[in-house]
Formats: sequence, C-alpha cells, structure tokens
Amino acid sequence: MDDPDMALSAIEEGVCDVIDLGRPLLADPDYCNKLKAGRTGEIRPCISCHEGCMGRVAEYSLINCAVNPQAARERFTAYEPILRPKKVLIVGGGVAGCEAARVLAIRGHQPELFEKGDRLDGNLLPGGAPEFKEDDIALAEWYAREMERLQVPVHLNAMVTKGDVLKAGFDTVIIATGSSPKVFSLGDDAHVYTD
Ligand code: SF4
Repeated sequence: MDDPDMALSAIEEGVCDVIDLGRPLLADPDYCNKLKAGRTGEIRPCISCHEGCMGRVAEYSLINCAVNPQAARERFTAYEPILRPKKVLIVGGGVAGCEAARVLAIRGHQPELFEKGDRLDGNLLPGGAPEFKEDDIALAEWYAREMERLQVPVHLNAMVTKGDVLKAGFDTVIIATGSSPKVFSLGDDAHVYTD
C-alpha cells in the first residue's frame, strides 16, 4: 500500500531525499502536486491490481489504469467545457456511480447520487475484505471524500423506484447498480462465497 502521508513525513523529516513512484502516478498524475500542497486525502489510491498497468504490459497492449480512466488517454478523455449544466440522477454508489458523479461535478454538472446501502463502496467492500486488499477500501473511502469535496448530494439508504425517476425532474439518469459476479464451480462449492 502506498501511503502519501508516510512519503510526506519521510521527506519533511529528512529520512530520505527522494521517493520513487511508479503505479501511484498512473492512478493519480497529480500525486506530487497534491503531496506538495498537503492535500494527501485527495490522492486517488492505486489498488495494486495490475489490471491496467503490468497486466497490459504483459500482453503488449496499451497501458491504462483500473482507477484512472484517463491514464494514457489524456488527450482523448480531457474534460471539455460544458455548454449547459445538467441535473443528473445517479442510481448506485459503487465505483461506476461515484466516478460518474465525480467527473460530472468537476465538469460543472449537478449530479445527485442515490445508494440503497448505508455506505459508498459497491463491490469494493467484499473485494477489500482480505487483509492484502486493503487498497480497495482506501479507494471507497477516497470516493466518499471526493463526493464531499465536490459537494455532490449523496443519499444513503435510498432505494430509487421508476416512479421516483420519472417525477424527479432530472435531465439525465445514470443507472450504475452494478453487475452480477460470474460464478463457476470449483468442485466443493460448500465453502465458496460470491458476496
Ligand atoms: S492498474 Fe491497478 S495496479 Fe496498475 S496503477 Fe492502476 S490501480 Fe495501480
């Protein structure tokens, strides 16, 4: 797990002169700027998955990052100015819903997020259950902080019905209620859990 606060302390206290970063810069290209500004809580954490970086290198395809859709595609995915702010209803507070809300808010739209559970995490919670997957939980916590920083209204324990959507008066609706895990047999399935 990369720890920006530890990195900052190490430099400030003279424990070391240089800190070398690899994957964390793919996850957040503004890592060093945020570190310098003391905004460590805004640094998007790398989740050590290797899906978009080393995994892509191994298959000779275009590098990317699981938590930063703009990585290596900065020119094509740059946030363009908007002509008219839209009110956007987002159903689902997992990664997809939070990322949609984050980008919409940065671009000047007015997203509003509804999550039927009592926290923002989606599949990051079961995914982060093993001790060595703690970075998944760090990502969920980062999204919760980003929603607060960007002043996105978040409604927890809020089930949204079709009627709610129709009468709410939003310009656009994004359904981000997740997917079902692929289930396959491992033989003795009595001890296999899929959330
Ligand atoms: S793809 Fe995964 S491991 Fe690689 S930089 Fe992104 S979050 Fe980190």
